[in-house]
Amino acid sequence: MPLVHLSDMINHAYRHHYAVGAFGVANLQFLEGIMQAAESCRSPVVLNLIESHFEGYNFDILMPAVTAAARQATVPVAINFDHGTSLAAAERAIRAGCNGVMVDTSALRFSENLWQTRDIVTMAHACGVTVEGELGYVPGVEGDNAKNHPGELAYTSAAEAVGYVERTGVDCLAVSIGTVHGRMKGAPKLDYARLAKIKDALTVPLAIHGGSGLSPDQFRKLIANGVAKINYSTALADAANRSIRENITADRKGVHNSLLAGVRGAVRGEAESCLRIWGCGGRAAEVLAQCRPWQEAQHLVLYNVQSALSESEAAAIMREAKISLEATPGVRNIHTGQTIQADGKYRFSLLVNFVSQSALLAYHNQSAQLGFPNKAFWSLVDEHVTLDIRES
Ligand SMILES: [Zn+2]
Repeated sequence: MPLVHLSDMINHAYRHHYAVGAFGVANLQFLEGIMQAAESCRSPVVLNLIESHFEGYNFDILMPAVTAAARQATVPVAINFDHGTSLAAAERAIRAGCNGVMVDTSALRFSENLWQTRDIVTMAHACGVTVEGELGYVPGVEGDNAKNHPGELAYTSAAEAVGYVERTGVDCLAVSIGTVHGRMKGAPKLDYARLAKIKDALTVPLAIHGGSGLSPDQFRKLIANGVAKINYSTALADAANRSIRENITADRKGVHNSLLAGVRGAVRGEAESCLRIWGCGGRAAEVLAQCRPWQEAQHLVLYNVQSALSESEAAAIMREAKISLEATPGVRNIHTGQTIQADGKYRFSLLVNFVSQSALLAYHNQSAQLGFPNKAFWSLVDEHVTLDIRES
């Protein structure tokens, strides 16, 4: 089960002076290419699901594949939701299996960015989920991802970063020091002095967005100045595109599968070279040993309904309670059931799947405030047994 807490993974990189890659998963072939690269380099890896990419795939359908890839891996993996647009989008991502979230409010003025990020942190931390904030603004220039980041570059200020991190409680801070989303135009000029000042002022790891197009030497300097997570997407897409173009040139009448045949390998090759430069190759075993595993948890109730209620009345209340409970942050899904044998001690079951033990504990702590769903449920129940279960 190599899913690990994202904050543990990034903190390990920060303490040991290397950076983990958060690679944009554009489709299944990218997912496989990225995982093959991480396995071959024995590297920890972050699978990055970028909300603007959801135009190209159904997030709820892709996520089971992403989770399965992470669980099958022999290297540590975390799953991050990137550039989300709202608290509701972050809740949805967590429910779908992301254990890190970044809701991008960096284009807003400082105080608004701070308050909105604080709300994300409150919700996500209750679920045990890592939060990245962004201060300053990393614009888009050219390439697949550029159009989603309009506007001018705004540098991160070290003084503002201190207040922002303290008051929001973010686990990791994305900074703007000269990189751009998408492809660079001309030689990138990075403000290392600014980055060093931010690093010295903070105790949290830093993240860089817009890693595509930087040189090995630039990456090494970023890492030496506190960068422990690098978001990388455009160069993977460019490598995939080159492969498709070469296949078309070689065989203009090539069938779909043959045109796409090199995408996985192109993504793998690009990701492998990053993992080596960033120093995370060969780190899988120590990261697995030192990071908490990311484990789901369940709350199970076996019960009988009160004799005064008809089964159809009970079913109607249960349906409504279930809909309300499913909206609770950190609840993945809810299963209700009835025993096949009619003569058992308990006839009904309720199984609530939580994304983590933290989410289950938070649910218990606030269950008095949940109001209707809880009251409605317990108004049904006669004899019962409840169990809290964690993955083993
Ligand atoms: Zn970004």
